[in-house]
Amino acid sequence: MNIHEHQAKAVLAKFGVPVPRGGAAFTVAEAVAAAESLGGSVWVVKSQIHAGGRGKGGGVKVVKSMDDLKSEATRMLGMTLVTHQTGPKGREVRRLYIEEGAAIAKELYLSLLVDRETSRVAVVASTEGGMDIEEVAHATPEKIITFSIDPATGPWPHHAQTLAKTLGLKGEQAKQLRTLLPALYKAFTQTDMSLLEVNPLIVTNDGMLVVLDAKVSFDDSALYRHPDLAALRDESEEDAKEIEASKHDLSYIALDGEIGCMVNGAGLAMATMDIIKLYGAEPANFLDVGGGASKEKVTAAFKIITADPSVKGILVNIFGGIMRCDIIAEGVVAAVKEMGLKVPLVVRLEGTNVELGKKIINESGLNVIAANDLSDGAQKIVKAVRAA
Ligand code: ADP
Ligand code: MG
Repeated sequence: MNIHEHQAKAVLAKFGVPVPRGGAAFTVAEAVAAAESLGGSVWVVKSQIHAGGRGKGGGVKVVKSMDDLKSEATRMLGMTLVTHQTGPKGREVRRLYIEEGAAIAKELYLSLLVDRETSRVAVVASTEGGMDIEEVAHATPEKIITFSIDPATGPWPHHAQTLAKTLGLKGEQAKQLRTLLPALYKAFTQTDMSLLEVNPLIVTNDGMLVVLDAKVSFDDSALYRHPDLAALRDESEEDAKEIEASKHDLSYIALDGEIGCMVNGAGLAMATMDIIKLYGAEPANFLDVGGGASKEKVTAAFKIITADPSVKGILVNIFGGIMRCDIIAEGVVAAVKEMGLKVPLVVRLEGTNVELGKKIINESGLNVIAANDLSDGAQKIVKAVRAA
């Protein structure tokens, strides 16, 4: 689960991480009130959406008067912000964060993430802060360093030293890193984050290290341990289909393509997406109905796929092991009876109760194209979509 920048900063502040003062605002009046209560004469109006690159897209503006603050807040609220992370459709800005302006001497990059290869928390750092880190990684990979932290010990002073060296920080700033790194690590592990990206971490003109931007994702599987964090969820930032899927405990991720997929098992789902691409089309989603799915769950899954207007064809690809083919067939038939079927449907069933599954589909009167294997199924659905 992702949260907004202002929420991430509030979480980090609880762990003693230095962040600028600020206030969230849903209206222009609230933005003005937030700036007034901050005082000072320089504020930053920051669009709160679950994507980075806001600055370049016009979603972050430094203002030096109340009039400018009002006009920027008016401009941003309700606008569709397009950044390299939102995709071409962009995101509607529904809330702002009004923050005190920082005097920036240096912008650095620092992130913590779960590294599955080492089963540890990895730290990634670079002097190239404030920029798109993917771009830095591509053009100047030598400017990025990575190391991981042993969970048994947490960060050692030498980790902060390595960081200081990489980031070109000495004296007072190096000293601040020795408390900042453990504070970030503690926040990361105690709240079960999967990603904490600080871009930029800044050195202010008076020599203080401050977290100026924070992007946080929590591990969904651990959210039950943190009801206070789960309450930060902003469903308006999430795909409605994904929210519906999560209610049914389905592993579903919406994508940009035209072929809806219903598959069991994450590996087979990935392979199905790959093979659709191989035959020249794009998957509309990743969907793993899981092992012991019920007929109701399968029905819910199929409904989510058919309700997506970008879906021009559906491929059901089931290798029944624990999952029984007849359950899948019943779910598909029930969903189609309720929702209707306006696009071609290719079904490939294999494994437990496959004959019964095929019989249910054949006797349902549905206009289904049967497929023999993965490759056959993918070719048939791509062909059917092209012909439609
Ligand atoms: P994004 O990464 O989505 O573009 P950031 O929060 O990193 O958003 O803001 C973009 C840039 O705006 C920063 O790199 C920094 O230069 C500037 N900025 C952001 N917040 C402040 C602030 N409080 N004071 C001064 N400048 C800021
Ligand atoms: Mg940033």
